[in-house]
Amino acid sequence: MKTPAYHDIATRYRVTIGTRFRLASIQPNDAWGASFKADADELISDSVKRLSDLQERLYAQDRWSILLIFQAMDAAGKDGTIKHVMSGVNPQGCEVHSFKSPSSEELDHDFLWRNSRVLPRRGHIGIFNRSYYEETLVVRVHQSILARQQLPPALVTKNIWRERYDDINAYERYLSRQGVVIRKFFLHVSKEEQRLRFLKRLEEADKHWKFSLADVGERAHFADYMRAYEDTIRHTSTTWAPWHVIPADRKWFTRLAVAATIVDTIESLDPRFPSADPKVKAELNKVKAALEAEVKAAKAKTVRASKK
Ligand code: ATP
Ligand code: MG
Repeated sequence: MKTPAYHDIATRYRVTIGTRFRLASIQPNDAWGASFKADADELISDSVKRLSDLQERLYAQDRWSILLIFQAMDAAGKDGTIKHVMSGVNPQGCEVHSFKSPSSEELDHDFLWRNSRVLPRRGHIGIFNRSYYEETLVVRVHQSILARQQLPPALVTKNIWRERYDDINAYERYLSRQGVVIRKFFLHVSKEEQRLRFLKRLEEADKHWKFSLADVGERAHFADYMRAYEDTIRHTSTTWAPWHVIPADRKWFTRLAVAATIVDTIESLDPRFPSADPKVKAELNKVKAALEAEVKAAKAKTVRASKK
């Protein structure tokens, strides 16, 4: 099979209109990806290189910022994907933030507060390893967490999830109008593959640290999580902040599909190095001529000295 262009990979898993979205329509081991495995290494390293160049332009242009949100079940490969895909990127223009269970200070604020404080500045790429989407995922699956949020009881009605979707959509629209380009990735791993990866973590001593008993507890709620993901994706897929549901049973494919999507997104912005205005250019030429004259003079001095 002919290797597809990044744009094809990016669009295949993109959800912009969620109303009819069904999680079952994208298989965690989607066979389409497997058909071009032979070119995967080359494609991944090419996309990492392209990303490095695109990031430099994005940074120099200083107009747009990119917010990449990663959500997934445990062991779906969030950390590995982030590490691989961003491996060629200059750390000065890229920040990764992980969102864990909120602190008491964070719980004392609205749920978007802690995310808003660390949004990427212009020219930067920001990565959220988990995000405010936990508010319609873990909080929905374990509603006891909602009680800890100390919301006024009158505001906690049966509409709360719908309201959170509305608020998230409005927030993302606002950000997009501020030049924040948002892409959201759900790394879709199957329950079977998760079991294999957990077993591997338990078998290899170097991987024990990655394993937590809480992960097994969450695994027992796998089906509830899948319902919460489906509902979230259905209600928060928009043209300004689409979800990408990435098959995650094969690690190499997850990396490739995510890298392709990010390259495609930044390429579509066509970031360019700013060209200096004519006055500045003339000044720069003068400075260049002066520096060149200095080099020439220094060389002449060395020649004279060596003749003495
Ligand atoms: P890794 O396991 O690879 O280190 P992780 O993202 O799973 O990465 P953990 O510390 O294991 O990190 O888990 C973070 C936990 O915090 C998750 O169970 C997640 O659901 C929870 N969490 C994140 N945001 C919220 C939130 N707003 N409310 C409640 N729990 C949250
Ligand atoms: Mg974890």
